[in-house]
Amino acid sequence: MADVDFIKSRLTSHPDFPKKGIVFLDIFPILRDPLAFETLITHLVHHITSTTIPKSPTGKIDVVVGLDARGFLLGPIIALRLGAAFAPVRKKGKLPGQCVSATYEKEYGADSFEMQADSIKPGQTVIVVDDLIATGGSARAAGQLISDLGGRTIEYLFIIELLFLKGASTLDAPIYSVVQSD
Ligand code: 5GP
Repeated sequence: MADVDFIKSRLTSHPDFPKKGIVFLDIFPILRDPLAFETLITHLVHHITSTTIPKSPTGKIDVVVGLDARGFLLGPIIALRLGAAFAPVRKKGKLPGQCVSATYEKEYGADSFEMQADSIKPGQTVIVVDDLIATGGSARAAGQLISDLGGRTIEYLFIIELLFLKGASTLDAPIYSVVQSD
């Protein structure tokens, strides 16, 4: 698809970042180019309206959940286009009020994610958005928080999926990625 090739052409890779042996894929060149950013958002919203929403038991998406931090760049725009709410998943200690938390494994030990307890109502349909899925640990923790609040995750959306880490197979709902990388 021409739009996928266009989005892919804007990604840059950075060997040995943030540490030796890691090849970091940078999405920021997409955001620097308004046409590429618009193409990305339109592609994701088209996917949601044509494929994700028909799978929703209520026929709509109530809440778009964005993951700290690059999910915050995509989630609110997608939420506005869908007429849905936006809710953030943040690193522990950043959100005021009553929160639910979930711990997940990172390369060096554990980290915790939190959501505000009133950000999802029981029975609401949810999609989760982030820039990239690697092991799936952070998306899995977000899915746990959503289910703790009684939400129903319909799909996880990413710009990039690192296929070799098989993160998708660890999640409680299907995933959609625009670009797949081996
Ligand atoms: P996971 O929890 O799936 O192992 O890791 C995914 C998280 O790490 C995402 O929040 C993502 O932003 C970040 N991440 C890991 N590697 C990369 C990368 O190469 N590029 C970008 N943009 N994010 C990455």
